[in-house]
Amino acid sequence: MDLGLVARLSARPLTTSVVPTGVYRLPEKEMTMPGKTDLLNELVAMSHWLGDPSRDLAILGEGNTSARVDDASFFVKASGMSLGEIELDGFVEIAFEPMLNFLEHGEVSDNVTTEAFMASRTDPTSSLRPSVETPLHALALTVGSAEFVGHTHPTAVNAIMCSQQAEEAIAGRLFPDEIVVCGPAPAYVPYTDPGLPLARKVWEVIDDYIDTYREPPKVILMQNHGFIALGESSREVQNITAMYVKAARILVGTYALGGPRFMTPENVARIHTRPDEDYRRRELRSLIFNESQDQNE
Ligand SMILES: [Zn+2]
Repeated sequence: MDLGLVARLSARPLTTSVVPTGVYRLPEKEMTMPGKTDLLNELVAMSHWLGDPSRDLAILGEGNTSARVDDASFFVKASGMSLGEIELDGFVEIAFEPMLNFLEHGEVSDNVTTEAFMASRTDPTSSLRPSVETPLHALALTVGSAEFVGHTHPTAVNAIMCSQQAEEAIAGRLFPDEIVVCGPAPAYVPYTDPGLPLARKVWEVIDDYIDTYREPPKVILMQNHGFIALGESSREVQNITAMYVKAARILVGTYALGGPRFMTPENVARIHTRPDEDYRRRELRSLIFNESQDQNE
């Protein structure tokens, strides 16, 4: 594993060559309180969308969400909260640096993990405990270049992730819009104990993905566990989740008729790089940013 994560991240501007075009907050800017309240409102709206029972993405305390505040901190769902019912006070603000240091050097023990999580909160007087998957969110918001992250356990996706053929089933792409919205491929993580071990595995998987595709993944799939959408906006997290759940339903449906007929790697690469699809992707993103801003007004 590559060491020096905090040093590597603080030395690295957010818009490196591997990061796709998009809107990023300037890292040196600190967010003001009204800015934080707007961000939390957007995070709450995204969480309600993901936790809506009709979407079958997460029930009870399943799943967790996060959003980057600035280069120094992020909000993450507190442990035990329901996505569908969470409000502004259901999120904890976490400082990146101690959390990433713990992720890199921390000892894997339940007691040490709890202490390190609590010590990473920007408000030590808060009674909230951060989600067990907080280090995974810290990674997705740094190494994964996301601004918003939505982790859920969609029934349609877990029908594949909990099957004998999970890896073979996701080995190819099924249709062009899957590529436009969800990227050239999902990143796949074999089953790993939740918390620190899982976050370390996800770190390796994201690094390998960037080496292969020269961009971070939009989708991370976790065997026997669930789904993560990495978005540049809350709306993009919703779009990625909706499109991948649709792809998962189609994939399962193909097994009634002989199994998936994947697009060829050449066709996948063509859709991913052709100028009109790139234009469509950028149009979708600008729509996303305009709509997110409207929601906050
Ligand atoms: Zn989970």
